[in-house]
Amino acid sequence: MRPEERDENRLISNKSRNLPAEAQSRLVFSLISESKISISGLTPSTSSYIIGYICSKTKTMATLTKQDVWDLLQQVADPEIPVLTVIDLGIIRDVKIHDDGLTEVIITPTYSGCPAMNMIEVNIRSVLQENGIDPLKVTTVLSPAWTTSWMSEEGKRKLKEYGIAPPVEGTADKGALFGESPKPECPHCGSQHTELIAQFGSTACKAMYKCLDCKEPFDYFKCH
Ligand SMILES: [Zn+2]
Repeated sequence: MRPEERDENRLISNKSRNLPAEAQSRLVFSLISESKISISGLTPSTSSYIIGYICSKTKTMATLTKQDVWDLLQQVADPEIPVLTVIDLGIIRDVKIHDDGLTEVIITPTYSGCPAMNMIEVNIRSVLQENGIDPLKVTTVLSPAWTTSWMSEEGKRKLKEYGIAPPVEGTADKGALFGESPKPECPHCGSQHTELIAQFGSTACKAMYKCLDCKEPFDYFKCH
């Protein structure tokens, strides 16, 4: 420690000697963060940085709410259909903040074999960790199975804008029982006159359709 620093530190201790412990801490804290005094053995700028770092960490731990996590999850896009977020898809089952500070995000994959699922977990981790959420755990729950009815109305609207017909509710059971294919609305012109071309579109989650009015082919996000 340089002699002048020692003098400053002595000055502080004289100033704060008669203060209650909390006021002393506050004084020392503000002087360190303003780089006026330093933590013993460190430079004033390093000391100030450490104080700032401790503050950012403790703030995250003390004030992080479930809503903050849900808000951040709005930034996590679906790897297959980037206009949809994991919230739109309805794959986030729950967010828990445990007493020990662990943040747990519980997800249910859209398809248990969906290769995109791994990517979704990676994307969730990267967005949350970039925002200082640590420690973090992503838990996959397979039951009850995800259904298209968990997709938000906002999600269905975005899907249609993207040119994919959103799932027609209630068609999953009917299709299985009577061998009928659902009649999704054409996302391009809104026509009801559409026909199934192929059970599997660009991915297993989608079927290929063709509009009989505007003649455009489109993907249909299958209901299940
Ligand atoms: Zn059409």
